[in-house]
Amino acid sequence: MQVQVRSKSGVRRFQARLEQSGRSFLVLEQHRTAKRWKFWRPRQREELYQFLAGRKSAPQLQDGPARLILEAESDDFRGATATLAMDLSVRTTPPQLSVEPGQHYINQGGSEMAVFHVGPEVVEAGVRTGPHEFRSWPLPGATPGTRFAFFAYSYDLPPRLTPLGFARDEAGNEATATFWFRVFPKEFRSRDLDLTKDFLEKVTQDIYSHTPQLARSGDLLADFLKINGALRREDNRRLADLRFDTEEKFLWREPFRQLADSQVEAHFADHRRYFYQGKKVDEQDHLGFDLAVTANVPVLAANDGRVVFAGYLGIYGNCVVIDHGYGLQSIYGHLSSVAVKAGDRVQQGREMGRSGSTGLAGGDHLHFSMQVDGVTVNPTEWWDQHWIRDRILARFPEEKLPGS
Ligand SMILES: [Zn+2]
Repeated sequence: MQVQVRSKSGVRRFQARLEQSGRSFLVLEQHRTAKRWKFWRPRQREELYQFLAGRKSAPQLQDGPARLILEAESDDFRGATATLAMDLSVRTTPPQLSVEPGQHYINQGGSEMAVFHVGPEVVEAGVRTGPHEFRSWPLPGATPGTRFAFFAYSYDLPPRLTPLGFARDEAGNEATATFWFRVFPKEFRSRDLDLTKDFLEKVTQDIYSHTPQLARSGDLLADFLKINGALRREDNRRLADLRFDTEEKFLWREPFRQLADSQVEAHFADHRRYFYQGKKVDEQDHLGFDLAVTANVPVLAANDGRVVFAGYLGIYGNCVVIDHGYGLQSIYGHLSSVAVKAGDRVQQGREMGRSGSTGLAGGDHLHFSMQVDGVTVNPTEWWDQHWIRDRILARFPEEKLPGS
């Protein structure tokens, strides 16, 4: 606890006690001698008290409701007393958590799913890999407390991390659990890109005219580097934040579909080194697939879902994001035209616009990526019907999947 007490004349006495089932436990009592402030009396004094309220200070405390009572007495001749009481819930055991046995093979940059059981005291649970926390959801058709989480092993994490199940109660107590897993490290490609003046002019012109918060410096390369760095990070954060606009429901059933007859121009997590006039000027990671057919081809929804974004989004130009439920989302960038709007329900194969080269794009192509609770993942797994069946669908009761 951290308590702030303000008084014109200072605090003579501060007391904190816990009450439970008619019993009272003293947690903290502090007296100040009146002399201490004798020669210096500003208008308002502020005292800060920090203490632990729990079994250490009150060993007889039981699990269940309790009351914390704070009392402060002013340091003047009146000795006025202020009291504050708050209801608390005492928990002396960590939250219950167990992960269902099973093998979890995880590709670096890929996705996986875990099922686990939590106690009724748990208010937040999921899977953590490195800095990323993935939410969990009640497993459809299962007993209360059975939850599942889609989680990702981000491409930029070292391959030696241990994914953890976690569960937290209202008081913030956290329990963690490990499960059987194997991470397959992946080598990501490295590509050199030569920037031309025409390309820089095209890109800066397009993006600055759509992004009023950016101001041009007058230096073409500097303007481009601002787009490629700061704006890229900002755009990726905006995309990641769309995870909060998700449905607690399976909106899809079939494997995700790749743009038909397309040529792969860039892979997921390609590391790009940018050169201008013979000098290396930047490095960035490419978080999706670049798929090219011809100009202005129809871009189709990779799967059933609900549009959560349709509009201009910085380096991604005209962009559509579809939510597929449970934090799984697909992203379509650089479109020349957009044929849907946020809130639209879309079926797999529905045209969402035409391919183009808006935003940070040289030629006409589709930038396609997928994210699991805001972390971009390699979409090849979600395109693969065997992977989808074995890793995802097999873990759900058949009758709970859409379309059955
Ligand atoms: Zn791309």
